Amino acid sequence: MIDLNDEQRQFEETMREFAARELAPEVPERDRHARPDPELFSKLAALGVPGVSIPQRYGGAGLDWISLGIACEELEYVDASCRTALSVHAGLCLTGIYQWGDEEQRQRILRPLAEGTRQGCFALTEPDAGSDVRALQTRAHKEGDGYRLRGQKVWISMGDFADVFLTFATVAPELGVRGITAFAVDRDLAGPGLKTTPIKDKYGLRASDTAIVSFDDALVPESNRIGEEGEGFKVAMSSLDSGRYCVASGAAGTIRACLDMSAAYAHQRQVQGEEIGRFQLVQQMVAGMARDYDIARLLWMRAGWLKNHGRRSSRESALAKWVNSERANRCADDALQIHGATGFSEECSAARYLRNSRATLIYEGTREVQTQLAAEYALGYREDRPVRRPLPGWPNEADAPKG
Ligand SMILES: Cc1cc2nc3c(=O)[nH]c(=O)nc-3n(C[C@H](O)[C@H](O)[C@H](O)COP(=O)(O)OP(=O)(O)OC[C@H]3O[C@@H](n4cnc5c(N)ncnc54)[C@H](O)[C@@H]3O)c2cc1C
Repeated sequence: MIDLNDEQRQFEETMREFAARELAPEVPERDRHARPDPELFSKLAALGVPGVSIPQRYGGAGLDWISLGIACEELEYVDASCRTALSVHAGLCLTGIYQWGDEEQRQRILRPLAEGTRQGCFALTEPDAGSDVRALQTRAHKEGDGYRLRGQKVWISMGDFADVFLTFATVAPELGVRGITAFAVDRDLAGPGLKTTPIKDKYGLRASDTAIVSFDDALVPESNRIGEEGEGFKVAMSSLDSGRYCVASGAAGTIRACLDMSAAYAHQRQVQGEEIGRFQLVQQMVAGMARDYDIARLLWMRAGWLKNHGRRSSRESALAKWVNSERANRCADDALQIHGATGFSEECSAARYLRNSRATLIYEGTREVQTQLAAEYALGYREDRPVRRPLPGWPNEADAPKG
């Protein structure tokens, strides 16, 4: 499980090289000026990254879940904003459509997303429904052979860039969670009732687009409903399993980046005639990063291994997301500390890693929600049933991950 096969190793090389060549030179400026790169997605598409874990017959690259984790780790090693774009597309949007969509929807809606000719996002959060998904108020009214959506989604990553919004609305508020329904809202079909507005002045992830998505009688054909009416909550939760996996694997990239930059600086910086790496208190911070990287990598790989084998990973993905995001944020803080005043400047990337890693304690389930989940599993209040909706790569032998 912890050894990569040749295909995965080669993919890791490709992603590492891509991040160094395409992201690293531009990221500091893009972050400083809050300027997402509109070309980035098509560059990722040229490498097959948007549909990395989706079978080839649906337009994907036909690799596996470990490869998606590798992509997230390597992208976040350089740029968490880029990894966020991949998370919402590949983890949250595509997996939900793959798992809950029918064969026709997989060909018509999923294929262009997996090929990377269209970009997806995931629109769940509302002004009064964040951690408490059950409180969502966006309404879907049946009209002819479609639905009209009315309501507002907030904090939607890549909302301004997306062509397809995996969106959640209720068809019957009186049914509570059993009224929530998933829709693949298509920007080209939604009409003037769909509007997206960028959120400015974010604390972090400034090179990533985040938007308000407003539905004012936006049109969705019935053929774009994902799953049955009332199944939306389950769609959202299974998408979040995959999204959290992407956040967890990305966080390992932040930890590794913090370790590498801190080790380099600890050798370079001299105080009292000694490298600061000789001081025990600096060593303690570096040692913590080395420990946390191994933990983070093992945790996301365990979740990826379960996914590759068609096994449910709700507990393991949530745990990996919780532990890895907390550790990434701590490591970024320590990296800044090791750099002293230099770390307090935008010239040093530690500050950017610190700001960016803060978001992962909030999105896709806050730190407190993950803590609560971990407790509920440990106390036996919650347990995972086997997956009923097959993940990409399973159970069809032809699509099974190699090695
Ligand atoms: C950069 C960024 C990108 C995002 N991208 C997306 C996206 O693409 N799609 C999307 O749908 N959403 C997205 N979100 C929204 C994100 O998922 C929500 O912000 C998150 O779920 C928390 O909801 P909230 O902000 O309403 O906080 P609230 O739910 O109001 O929580 C407020 C505080 O109360 C705590 N709290 C809540 N419930 C409990 C509890 N039961 N026990 C203990 N404490 C609790 C929380 O942990 C938090 O500290 C994004 C957010 C950010 C910051």
